[in-house]
Amino acid sequence: MAGNRGTQLIGSGAPSGDAGSGAAMSGVRGPGVRMRDLIDAVSSLRPTAAFELADPAELIDQLRGLEDLKSAAAAAQARIAVAFDAAQRSADAAAGVPAEEQGRGVGAQIALARRESPARGSRLHGLAKALVSEMPRTLAALETGQLNEWRATLLVKETACLSAEDRCAVDEELAADTGTFDGSGDKAIIAAARAAAYRRDPRSVTQRASHAAAERHVSLRPAPDTMAYLTALLPVAQGVAVHAALTRHADTLRAGGDTRTRGQLMADTLVERTTGTPGGITGVEIQLVMTDRTLFQGDAEPARLPGYGIVPAGWARTLLAGNQNQAEPGQDQDLKAWLRRLFTAPGTGDLVGVDSRARLFPAGLRRFIQARDDTCRTPYCDAPIRHFDHIISWHDGGPTSLANGAGLCEACNHTKELTGWTAQTRAARTGAPTTSPGTRHVLDIRTPTGHTYRSTAPPLPGTPEPEIQPARSRHHRRRLRHPAKALKYAHLTELQIA
Ligand SMILES: [Zn+2]
Repeated sequence: MAGNRGTQLIGSGAPSGDAGSGAAMSGVRGPGVRMRDLIDAVSSLRPTAAFELADPAELIDQLRGLEDLKSAAAAAQARIAVAFDAAQRSADAAAGVPAEEQGRGVGAQIALARRESPARGSRLHGLAKALVSEMPRTLAALETGQLNEWRATLLVKETACLSAEDRCAVDEELAADTGTFDGSGDKAIIAAARAAAYRRDPRSVTQRASHAAAERHVSLRPAPDTMAYLTALLPVAQGVAVHAALTRHADTLRAGGDTRTRGQLMADTLVERTTGTPGGITGVEIQLVMTDRTLFQGDAEPARLPGYGIVPAGWARTLLAGNQNQAEPGQDQDLKAWLRRLFTAPGTGDLVGVDSRARLFPAGLRRFIQARDDTCRTPYCDAPIRHFDHIISWHDGGPTSLANGAGLCEACNHTKELTGWTAQTRAARTGAPTTSPGTRHVLDIRTPTGHTYRSTAPPLPGTPEPEIQPARSRHHRRRLRHPAKALKYAHLTELQIA
């Protein structure tokens, strides 16, 4: 599902000017080294052809060498992230940004550059700061390939509860750059770091526990066969209490003759008690996004269930028919389904042009944007939509319209308001319509460094597959890196698939 969302760095305002230099971050150069040359050197390691037998020992050497390179690159990224933080803060200060707001959005920019979600970008930023300022020996171990980025992250995580001074001392004690962790697995590394941290500051153990409780949450992720994992991270006492309550209730029902298994009863009880409704679904609106052909004509085009992802056509029809659980005794059959026409068949598109004079998005338009965007529109951010945002703000004359609306998560909505961040729809740039039957909504986000990242709404059920493009020449790829040409190309692509 994640792969559906088209996102790309389409250009940089950084003064590089050399479209041929290749790498997405074409403005970035080390002393005497061009990123493109490094990438080309690595790409040249590709074995020529399967039938030309290569030397096995050499292949193993290459695997190890590339692993060392990845670690060294991760260390360089940490140093660069810290330098970027400092540069952004001083630029903010020069621009008169209040002191407490300086450096905000640094994590979000690191995330976009590293093709990660904003949440992960913030963690990577924290990792970089810890490595550079408090754990120099761990950083050195990363640089020399003795630790990879994940294992360095483990050391940073396990010492997160310590003061900077204690963390530095633990780093010194572990001396990861002297080969301490040669041959150690993740668990051994965690154990060593934890033991050193506990010795250094026994009180941090309890502080750590209270910090961990702050991380409690509930999350949902897809499982195969239209199932889902609902997961709760809880303090141990509460977790045990919930499990015991479900077990006890299930045992009582079974003693009373209920034929469901204990696991089924516990799951059903969880749903009933949480939603407050037997059967658990009535009264909670579940949106299904599907084509009219899927709904009425038995078409196989899959549907999309917001908050879950793609579901099979037949399953969607059965859910709407309200007899999804017919085979399951004890389930409530009275599932109320609403059928709401969000948009009409391509070619008519009634609702597509709906605008509002109101400053807030009316419910119908919000529902449409929710269905169109599915999750937060920031590239690489999969978080649920919490805000319906004017891409061009209402104060600046941005209309309350489908084209000028975007679904954002809470964090991204705040980031967007920071100094130096702007967003535009394609309509604003070229005057072309952004939403018409068969096209996908496009939004460009510009960060304070002048880099522009494109977010294309995921394809709705029934969107024709774009024609498979033949492998593009290097020349062609270079052309695409020029923002104006990229826009022109993207527009042509849409005309083809419309
Ligand atoms: Zn987001």
